[in-house]
Amino acid sequence: MFSLTSTIDSSSIFSPRTAELLLRTGKPKISTPGILTCTSRGIVPHLSNDNVKRTRAIRWVHVSFESFLEHSPPIPTLLQPQHGDKPRLNSFLGLDENDYLLSMSLRDPSDGREMPANTNTYVTANCIRGVRRVTPHDWQEYVRSLKPDIAFSLSDIPFTPPSYSQKRITKSIERSALWLQGLLGALSASSPMLFVQMAGGASIPARKAFSDSLLEVVHGKDADAIHPMKSLDEGVAGYVFDLVPLRLALAPDESICTLLQASLRPLPRTKPRLVTSACGPHEMLRLIRDVGVDLFDTQWAQRAADVGVALDFGFPVAIAGGQQQLHDLGYNLYDDKYRRDFTSLGIGCTCPSCSPYSIPADEIIRHSSIDAPSTTLAGAHQPYTKAYLHHLLHTHEMSAHTLLVMHNMTVMERFFEGVRDVIGGAGGSKDDFVMHVSKFIETYAEDDSESNSNPEGNVLAAARKAWREVELLRGKGRLSREAEKTNQANEMLVKEMDEKGAEGGVLD
Ligand SMILES: [Zn+2]
Repeated sequence: MFSLTSTIDSSSIFSPRTAELLLRTGKPKISTPGILTCTSRGIVPHLSNDNVKRTRAIRWVHVSFESFLEHSPPIPTLLQPQHGDKPRLNSFLGLDENDYLLSMSLRDPSDGREMPANTNTYVTANCIRGVRRVTPHDWQEYVRSLKPDIAFSLSDIPFTPPSYSQKRITKSIERSALWLQGLLGALSASSPMLFVQMAGGASIPARKAFSDSLLEVVHGKDADAIHPMKSLDEGVAGYVFDLVPLRLALAPDESICTLLQASLRPLPRTKPRLVTSACGPHEMLRLIRDVGVDLFDTQWAQRAADVGVALDFGFPVAIAGGQQQLHDLGYNLYDDKYRRDFTSLGIGCTCPSCSPYSIPADEIIRHSSIDAPSTTLAGAHQPYTKAYLHHLLHTHEMSAHTLLVMHNMTVMERFFEGVRDVIGGAGGSKDDFVMHVSKFIETYAEDDSESNSNPEGNVLAAARKAWREVELLRGKGRLSREAEKTNQANEMLVKEMDEKGAEGGVLD
């Protein structure tokens, strides 16, 4: 259950607040504002399950189900239920149901690629083999058989080029509400908690209309279908806002905060508000300050690890003010200036990269006597250094990204711990929180490179560029080595033929 523990300004429904989400005893308790981790085909990118377990910041794992749609029926649904009614998605992913919270949506919320239009009977989804049609009934079956802890309802959010006509927006609202009703009717009370993806696009009246339709008392045959609930909202446990389609539909003078507020204004304030694909801590802080958002996915921080950035920031800001230059949100470890930098990624960081330790000797799987435990390796180790990570990145070692993901997730979790401390701390006032947010914004350079207003302007943009260059060089390196070999072989052949020819000449 979601229980609010503190609200800075109880007169406002958009006040920053802290809360705890506990589905049932034995499940991990999620403190909010907090994070959930994104996956690719159910796997946290770059991390094996033992590294997921070592990263304490990972407690809530989100699965985008469309990546399993290349087989019909999708492979996770084929797993036979073990021990009665155990959740299948947990078993399939090898994540203990008592250690992790699992949520599942159909679409990958960070994927804004253009898609064929949805219709009254299906939604289009993207998998490795191309576009798949998923009917509301299919989605009910997937949710029912996989039993994630939290399922996102199917909403009709268009991924066709904007702008959208009034008729299209009305259709989107109607379909989303109808499909939610179908899902509520198909699931029993013990089934997953349902989060609804808020429809209405960039239109304020449409967003309000969708929220109103959730609160309306359902009559007639529809009422029987969702009995004993009286309105759709009674069956909804939380509200989801996907920022990628919103950014696509947004006019330059509109603000995302206003749209989110339009959706939330009529709704009860006691349910969690989840935002996907926020672009870094600046945007997250603004959404907490102005809308009272509770949960964020960490797509941004995970993507930073992909491109070789070790994050380094905190909340409230510990750096003394009055400096002219803005600080970077992290280190672009591709940069040559880290070649001989033997410091760790973050002082006092508790992640497995900054505070590494060995696995106890009796837990190591040994394949032969060569793998006998080394006495020198037991216990805690020195932290990995920036210079080492720089080397790993330039030699394209996969472990670079593993170490970075574990570090970045830990930085995000600590950042949110700081946010919770300021909001929930003794005497925490709205002014206090607003002041700390302003100080953060004044201290750190925002990553606005994704919005194209500043494509080269910060450490993440530089890292993305360096990452592409190494990718390119690697390709060039392999190809040039192959080309060299081919050239050498050709030269040998020509030489041999020349020699033969010369010999022939002698014979003549
Ligand atoms: Zn670290």
